[in-house]
Amino acid sequence: MQIDRRAFLAQGFATSVLLGFPGLLHAQMTLGQMTLDVVSDGHLVLPGSFAFNDMPKDELMPILERMNQPFDQLTPPCNLSLLRGNGRVVLFDAGSGTEFMPTAGKSLAALEALGVSPDDITDLIFTHGHPDHLWGVLDDFGDPLFTNATHYMGQAEWDYWTDPNTVSTIGNARQAFAVGAERRLQVIAEQTTFFSDAEEILPGVGARITPGHTPGHMSFEVRDGNSAVMIVGDSIGNDHIALARPDWLSPADQDPILGAQTRVGLINDLVAAQMPIVGFHLGQGGLGRIEKTDDGFSFRTEV
Ligand SMILES: [Zn+2]
Repeated sequence: MQIDRRAFLAQGFATSVLLGFPGLLHAQMTLGQMTLDVVSDGHLVLPGSFAFNDMPKDELMPILERMNQPFDQLTPPCNLSLLRGNGRVVLFDAGSGTEFMPTAGKSLAALEALGVSPDDITDLIFTHGHPDHLWGVLDDFGDPLFTNATHYMGQAEWDYWTDPNTVSTIGNARQAFAVGAERRLQVIAEQTTFFSDAEEILPGVGARITPGHTPGHMSFEVRDGNSAVMIVGDSIGNDHIALARPDWLSPADQDPILGAQTRVGLINDLVAAQMPIVGFHLGQGGLGRIEKTDDGFSFRTEV
């Protein structure tokens, strides 16, 4: 096994290490007494229209070419965050499970490589209810997989996906998401607790509502003293166009106008605070920092 190790110190924040496991790009960050590992759940395969429809092509194409991002197809990685310390093993998002896409739902092997089994998870916190974040919550028999974990979902997000009207109002493209979410949320209802914007869910884990991608999408600021990282889920949905032109409306967002407002506000705050992030679909392990460029923003893995 070849291990490619790059260690770097952030100014007063944390130490980060990027380790190249075979087939699994893995990023790690230390926050005081806690360790955050980014765990791969594999990747998705999506048509380019999912992210690029209705964008001005004359401006879009040069940006994509510069970033080696094809126009026709997206293969976004899926990055779960695992936070360990202070007696807790906290997982952010459950991944896809085995029923969504054959290229995704790989996180159990990645967790096992870190010596973590589903029974070890004490807390499971969702950014939102989409398949690649939620469907891994059940095992192959349809029972809860993380048997010892308290599950947490934002109240607005829970209310949206459990509303019986959602399946008929969400539109054809996302109807399967609504059916899939409702079925799974029913199974985990008893072990789920709910939270709102600005609430401290666990010691050092605060919620920030980042709506638009879904109605109640949440991001999480994990902090220990001066060390902090923002787990942004899909509020910054990729490391190409969402950063180069964060104000462009994204068809990946259920409410594109609100999604763009959220993205611009969040990016400005993150850059001002110099705060590292984990993006669920960002490349190279998903852990890095956003930087201002001449005409937009870019993602750098060195935090
Ligand atoms: Zn996603």
